[in-house]
Amino acid sequence: MKTLKIAIQKSGRLNEKSVELLKNCGLNFENYKSSLISPVSNFPLEILFLRDDDIPEYVQDGIADLGIVGENVIQETEVEVSYLQKLGFGKCSLKIAVPNNNTITVLDQLNGKAIATTYPVILGKYLKEKGISSDIRTISGSVEISPGLGLSDAICDLVSTGGTLKSNGLIPFADVMSSEAVLIGSKGSENDDLVQELIQRIQSVLRAKETKYVVLNVERKNLDAVTALLPGVKSPSVVPLAEVDWVAVHTVIPERDFWDRISQLKQAGAQGIVVMPIEKIIL
Ligand code: ATP
Ligand code: MG
Repeated sequence: MKTLKIAIQKSGRLNEKSVELLKNCGLNFENYKSSLISPVSNFPLEILFLRDDDIPEYVQDGIADLGIVGENVIQETEVEVSYLQKLGFGKCSLKIAVPNNNTITVLDQLNGKAIATTYPVILGKYLKEKGISSDIRTISGSVEISPGLGLSDAICDLVSTGGTLKSNGLIPFADVMSSEAVLIGSKGSENDDLVQELIQRIQSVLRAKETKYVVLNVERKNLDAVTALLPGVKSPSVVPLAEVDWVAVHTVIPERDFWDRISQLKQAGAQGIVVMPIEKIIL
């Protein structure tokens, strides 16, 4: 039987969440920091642990069938791969930042200026689109210190909270791209049954993460008002209670409007509200 290979980051910002996602998909494997390859005992899959920069090409060339990597790395390496699924972690933006004592306030002022970055391809395309011609200085790391050293007038780097920029006296100036971790596959891999099975498992884990399981009690006379607030996967389950005028309602609600819904439900007469995490939702 065929064995798929999936490439994930060996260590760094995406490693932990990538391992957690695969484990939540029910995949059993050892996560030894020393090994480069780890077989999955209960699915025909091997996990390759790589530098994130190498993942797009491994997938493009079919050495790995699948990969988990930031969109920024895919765009920068300009590979031909299939985007299979956004994964909701590793969120960040590629931004141009300037020293906070700088007079640069509009994009045009970057004309002729030196911008240090580890993302010359993405930055080059962005500047070209905006009709700006800057001197792109490609460096391999610690981009944020380059204006202080007099190496550049601005930088283009990944930002999540902005803390690193701030502590280096830089302020974000323009958004070049936003990024998150994605599942990619070799071209055509999406037609493979095993790949499809894995995508389904990942989607069921992601759906579950976005929702909470809610159980509450309500008097029958308030049931309509309460169920009107609950979409559920299809419709809420209503279970009779020993006390005849009361029922228990079971449903799932989206995490994002969780607090709003809970207070609305209380107002509509819900009591004893219990909220639980969900492991998987299979539609
Ligand atoms: P490797 O050793 O695998 O080459 P790296 O040092 O290039 O790792 P990390 O810093 O671990 O990469 O970042 C991996 C990915 O995490 C980035 O490509 C990006 O998609 C995402 N990311 C999320 N937030 C940030 C952030 N604040 N800074 C940098 N990357 C971030
Ligand atoms: Mg890297």
